[in-house]
Amino acid sequence: MQEQLRPLIAGNWKMNGTGAALEQLAHLKTLLEEAGEIASDVLICPPATLIHRAAQRAEGSPIRIGGQDCHAKVSGAHTGDVSATMLFDAGASHVILGHSERRADHGETSAMVSEKVQAALAAGLVPIVCVGETEAEREQGRANQVVAEQLAQSLPDDFGNTQIIVAYEPVWAIGTGRTPNIGDIAEMHAHMRALLVERFGAAGEAALLLYGGSVKPDNAGEILRTANVNGALVGGASLLANDFFSIIVVA
Ligand code: PEP
Repeated sequence: MQEQLRPLIAGNWKMNGTGAALEQLAHLKTLLEEAGEIASDVLICPPATLIHRAAQRAEGSPIRIGGQDCHAKVSGAHTGDVSATMLFDAGASHVILGHSERRADHGETSAMVSEKVQAALAAGLVPIVCVGETEAEREQGRANQVVAEQLAQSLPDDFGNTQIIVAYEPVWAIGTGRTPNIGDIAEMHAHMRALLVERFGAAGEAALLLYGGSVKPDNAGEILRTANVNGALVGGASLLANDFFSIIVVA
C-alpha cells in the first residue's frame, strides 16, 4: 500500500501571470506559515518568466517552484525554448512534461517527452510526466490502453533510479469543470501503479501518482482520499492562493 507516501500538491499556472501574480505566492506563503506543519509537499509552476522571482519569493517557505516544459537539449539554436539546465539555474526543482496542452498544441509525442525527462533528470530537476486519454478514447473503451502506451513510451528506463511522479490528467477534464467519477479515478490509478511496479519495481511502489483535471476546493478531499492518488496537479484553482491553500490542507 502507498498510504505512507507524502502527497504532492502541484499548481500549474499555465500561461497566466505577470509580476503581480507573485502576490498570490506571497499570500500562499503567509497562509502556510500560519498553518504550521502541513502534510503534503507544495509546488507552484508559474510561467518561465516568473520562475526566478517566484523562487526568491518562496525562499524560507515549503513552496517549491517548477517549470511547465523544457527542451530536450541543454543549449543551442532553439529560438524561444528553455532548457532544463536553465530552469534549474533559475531556481526550479521540478518540471511538468508532456502536459496534454503541449502534446496537442506543439505536437509533442511520448518519445519527445521521454527525451525531455532525461534532460530534466540530467539537470537535477524532478520531472512530472503527464498522461491521459481524450474523451473519444474513453468512450471507445481505450483509456487504459492509451495511458499504458503513454507511460511505456514517455518514461525512460532510468526513470526507476529516481522519484517517479506521474500525473493522470484526462484531457476532457482539464479546465472543463468535469471530473471522472471516483471509481474511474481509482481504477486508472491502480492500473498505472501496476504498470509502474511491473516495470520499475520498488520505484513504482514509491511513485507519486497525481490526479489532475478540474480539481477544486470542493472535490479535492474525495479525490485525494482515493486509493493510489498521491496528490494533485491543479490548474485554474492554483491561481488564487486561498483556493490552492484549501486544496493543500485537505491532502
Ligand atoms: C492542468 O492544467 O494540469 C489542469 C489540471 O487544469 P485544471 O485544474 O484547470 O483542470
